[in-house]
Amino acid sequence: MWYFISPKVVFGEDALDYLSEVKGKRALVVTDKVVRELAAERVAEKLREAGLDIEFYDEVEAEPSTSSVARGLEVARRLQPDLIVAVGGGSCIDTAKAIWALYENPELSIEDIAPLAELKLREKARLIAVPTTSGTGSEATWAAVITDPAEHRKMELAHHELVPDIAVVDPSLAKTMPPKLTAATGMDVLAHAIEAYVSQWANDFTDGLALKAIELVFRYLPRAYRSPDDMEAREKMHNAATIAGLAFSNSMIGVAHALAHSIGGLFKIPHGEAVGMCLPYTIEYDLPEAEDRLEQIAHHLRLSYTSRREAGLKLADEARRLLSEMGLPATLAERGVAESELEENMDKLVRLAMSSGGTTINPRIPSEEDYRKLFRYIYEGRRVDF
Ligand SMILES: [Zn+2]
Repeated sequence: MWYFISPKVVFGEDALDYLSEVKGKRALVVTDKVVRELAAERVAEKLREAGLDIEFYDEVEAEPSTSSVARGLEVARRLQPDLIVAVGGGSCIDTAKAIWALYENPELSIEDIAPLAELKLREKARLIAVPTTSGTGSEATWAAVITDPAEHRKMELAHHELVPDIAVVDPSLAKTMPPKLTAATGMDVLAHAIEAYVSQWANDFTDGLALKAIELVFRYLPRAYRSPDDMEAREKMHNAATIAGLAFSNSMIGVAHALAHSIGGLFKIPHGEAVGMCLPYTIEYDLPEAEDRLEQIAHHLRLSYTSRREAGLKLADEARRLLSEMGLPATLAERGVAESELEENMDKLVRLAMSSGGTTINPRIPSEEDYRKLFRYIYEGRRVDF
């Protein structure tokens, strides 16, 4: 028995208008200071039209830490909202999920938010997610990534009840993303979709979503990067992010995310940039166990190749081409990490990657030695040959 879990997805032009009809008394809007100006005030206006009282918690940090959650939780406990509305990128939505879970379950601590926990959600509030970046797909997923600052460790919180009730996917909110953010978040979408498609838990319900998201990224991400006002490209990428989120939330992410969470936490590299950097190497690494699936992606993209192996390698090249077209780093060295820094942190990097959820569901399960090699290859920019 298996489940496909999805929020109600409101999408397309004017999707935000949906919020003027939601039911509720008090809404806590979880956002950051920049997004508050750019988008969250617009969201709040719609909620006021629906008759709700609004309070903002606008102190979410990028790559949010446990203290971002704790401060927001205090606001929630005082306000007692019946609606939590996350407005922003993955950082804001993930923070809102954690606040929500702890607000509903005062006896739990953040480490307790795990797949098999008894979470009682929706007894006090519902969660609406309004993404303003086209990337993490968090509006559609049951995961939240929160950094433990003491350990420089990214905690992967997950529970099927954490899927928001409603995702409002309005492309007008994505058009303020600067090109570098468009590029990095777009690579995250690609990684979600490819990892969902090759995952051991890939299934008939997620395959079509993953392939569609991959197709949309290759077609529209370069356009959205080059021409920020290209609203067709913005809308397609905004949809692709949620579609890829639905795919990986119902199958799983893999080794690119395990590697990226490790290097992101330790070297402070934003998630999309880290995962985009790792992706070509993990496609090559997965090839021995996922030739069929990777060839199907290459076929869907109409790449030309003469063997399955070549199809996979071409797909990795296409991911590298996207990175270079958009000026994103393809190696840790290029990103400014010193070799000594990598070696000093190697044991910790490997330990964190081994404990990531993506490790065991990936089509090829890495050993500690594999991870050591992968980190070095990503540092140097070597093609994976093992
Ligand atoms: Zn991601």
